[in-house]
Amino acid sequence: MKIMVLNAGSSSLKFKLFNKQDLSVLASGVIEKIGEPQSHARVEYIDGSGEELSEEVYQSMPDHRSAVRLMEKLFREKEILGHVNELAGIGHRVVHGGESFHEPVLINDEILHAIKELVPLAPLHNPANITGIEAAMERTPDIPQVAVFDTAFHQSIPEHAYLYALPYHLYEEQKVRRYGFHGTSHSYVSKMAAEYLNLPYNELKFISLHLGNGASAAAIDRGRCVDTSMGLTPLEGLVMGTRSGDLDPAILFYLARETGMDIQELDNLLNKESGLKGICGNNDMRSIGRMADTGDSHAQLAIEIFCYRIKKYVGAYLAALSGADCLIFTGGIGENDIRVREKCLAGLDTLGVALDSQKNSNRKDGIMEIQKEGGSCKILVVPTDEEFEIASQTLKLLR
Ligand code: ADP
Repeated sequence: MKIMVLNAGSSSLKFKLFNKQDLSVLASGVIEKIGEPQSHARVEYIDGSGEELSEEVYQSMPDHRSAVRLMEKLFREKEILGHVNELAGIGHRVVHGGESFHEPVLINDEILHAIKELVPLAPLHNPANITGIEAAMERTPDIPQVAVFDTAFHQSIPEHAYLYALPYHLYEEQKVRRYGFHGTSHSYVSKMAAEYLNLPYNELKFISLHLGNGASAAAIDRGRCVDTSMGLTPLEGLVMGTRSGDLDPAILFYLARETGMDIQELDNLLNKESGLKGICGNNDMRSIGRMADTGDSHAQLAIEIFCYRIKKYVGAYLAALSGADCLIFTGGIGENDIRVREKCLAGLDTLGVALDSQKNSNRKDGIMEIQKEGGSCKILVVPTDEEFEIASQTLKLLR
């Protein structure tokens, strides 16, 4: 039997197929530009003889339903999945679970309705996730479908850390509070780190830094997340590819008054035109690194601002946790960018977070340990695998 994981975005569908027995990956892929004239599908899979193969398809796919059908067709043709009945379950990534969902749930009409009710809290993400769920439920009505929420891991955050200093009725009536995202990743890498250190998860204090296009920090105190940098939406906190992260909210009133920008324009400015892109015109850290190396002062500044914000959160979470046993870098930037890791932690030796430049410059697959000899806080680079975590949570629920 097999477990499928689906991650539906507004115009994309990522999928990964796992062997239920050992959660080894049988196939993975993505269908992009759904709804555009020419969609693109790519699937990588292992055939019967163990050879790694791939296939690309360009064709029009008007919606997620046709994308799910194409995925099924590719699976059948390549003999990756003979029949959908070979699926023990399908795990879906759902970005916002609000306060209703603290853990993965089996999806039924009532749950789907509850996820739809959360759309105002995540208007960009939940509708896409719902489209993926509905398309899969339509094609495989007899297969259990599980929702795994990005926010669930953060539901343990205490009131004093999740409430904003706004009139309390806005929390009661509008549910305005910090929810946090990237929970699947923070949960996965911290558990992997504990396993690597061979120490009990529930006895360790972690600072987890997920640095990808989106970026967030989490403080995890002996098995429970106690704070995180993203808030009501994924806009708050660290500087990101195109998102500003923290800023003075009065900037919005100022800009509205001075420039006449409306809510939609301000939303677009903060979510799509700010962050690294706003400072240097590029949102891809690899390109920004190259630009900085050739003397581009805006690229250099973007890296400085990005790293300084991270350093401030590390300091804040060292205070929140009264010291940390382990700091984790993950995500595309956290796992790969030597310079960013170095800059984020520069000068934190006196707080027990001491990076070893030599070890930090190494590149290797899997977990890498990069603190100085004798440093009280372990510093680990842990590759994240959100799909694996969704598959294992799906399997756990089905059992
Ligand atoms: P997402 O948040 O979309 O899942 P990723 O976790 O893949 O994104 O992270 C994407 C970011 O990681 C981009 O800014 C990309 O430039 C950066 N990145 C990927 N590989 C490297 C690398 N080798 N060095 C520096 N940055 C990298």
